[in-house]
Amino acid sequence: MSTTHTERTEAGGWVGASTSHDTRQTKRTGKVYLIGAGPGAADLITVRGVRLLAKADVVMHDALVEPAMLDHAPPRARRVAVGKRCGQHSMTQHFINELIVDAARQHAVVVRLKGGDPMLFGRADEEMRALEAAGIEYEIVPGITAALAGAASLRCSLTLRGVSRSVALVTRSRAADTGAIQELANADSLVFYMGRDDAQAIARQMINAGRSGATPVAIVEACSTGDERRLALTLARLAHGEAQQWLDRSKPSLLMIGTVFAGRVEVR
Ligand code: SAH
Repeated sequence: MSTTHTERTEAGGWVGASTSHDTRQTKRTGKVYLIGAGPGAADLITVRGVRLLAKADVVMHDALVEPAMLDHAPPRARRVAVGKRCGQHSMTQHFINELIVDAARQHAVVVRLKGGDPMLFGRADEEMRALEAAGIEYEIVPGITAALAGAASLRCSLTLRGVSRSVALVTRSRAADTGAIQELANADSLVFYMGRDDAQAIARQMINAGRSGATPVAIVEACSTGDERRLALTLARLAHGEAQQWLDRSKPSLLMIGTVFAGRVEVR
């Protein structure tokens, strides 16, 4: 099973659902399934996702997708690693869109396997627009997003009567986004995706926006995988840079902030 990084065209075009009676010259296109692979563990994907993977001719997967997840696809399926962290070079989203469209023009079942849920911080919208523009049929299969896997690992309900009635799923905020943090700080529980490199700045901004320095913080790294690690601290400690040494820059991590995380983190 080889993983291909940049192949754009596939050998042997697929002529689709035409029967022997079909005399039309037009080439049919295949169907693309944007499937949520879940947070990492190969068995945290939906039954529907696994069934579709088993039928795949091509699987285009994110860097975050665990290699074992690809075992759900038949050995004959072409595996193509796409995404920013794959290989030596990063692919632009535009290029990824073109790869998916090209694959659908040549194969019946194209799976675009995306980490977590496709509709959260997954650039799914661009891929859907590209497929629509090319007239290619597609379907979305939801997946377990990292925040929910993180909550499960922490054994922490993100909502809690009288404590947390709102949850914000947020992507990292540059230092310039102080206004955005100001608004977000009103959510009872916050889960930052892709926030690792800005964790300290986010904590400072949250405190500036009025959240107490004593607010509990949990950081969950590589949740649901064998490499999972968890760290418990407070907003003030995070703002002072206490997590900097602990964080592994090669692993995905979530920054979870809010009263619900108090006492829920058993650091292993
Ligand atoms: N669509 C994905 C998110 C993609 S953005 C989803 O729904 O989960 C990538 C970010 O997700 C990472 O930078 C990290 O913040 C988070 N993430 C994804 N998988 C993770 C994991 N197993 N553990 C911790 N964070 C994870």
